[in-house]
Amino acid sequence: MAIPYLRYGYSGPNVATIRFACMVPSCKHTDHEKMLSLPGHGNRLYNTRDLLAPVDEVCICEGEWDTMTALAYGLHAVGVPGVKAWKPYMAGAFAGYKKVRIIAQMDDDGQSVKWANELASQIPAAVVQHCPHGLDLNDAHLAGRANALLKGPKAVPAGV
Ligand SMILES: [Zn+2]
Repeated sequence: MAIPYLRYGYSGPNVATIRFACMVPSCKHTDHEKMLSLPGHGNRLYNTRDLLAPVDEVCICEGEWDTMTALAYGLHAVGVPGVKAWKPYMAGAFAGYKKVRIIAQMDDDGQSVKWANELASQIPAAVVQHCPHGLDLNDAHLAGRANALLKGPKAVPAGV
């Protein structure tokens, strides 16, 4: 599946890059990554269009799927394509918000929580929210548990 990274230009949305998801149900992704980038395109923020919205609050999600889930709940959201994709210069894009919700996945060995806390240490208005144990945000949606997380914020101080 191709996932376009869109940005606004003078003529409307433009494609900044495309990432690709392996969608073969039986694939274990042993000889390739589950998500692939175009050669030389490096790490970019997903859905930067939402950074242009006149709002006080934005979410940062890990990965495109969780970002799409947050968008489906009516939130403004930007994605970081994986726990190793964040670069400190990206923090500047989140200056000036009253609240930046960083959604930590809870389906790994704590890598996402570590990732979220690292981002929170660089973004003054950040709060970290944890998905239900064992789930990422998209899984939480499928389990009917995302509404409580996204509509009833329960902020966790950074570093916890
Ligand atoms: Zn695969």
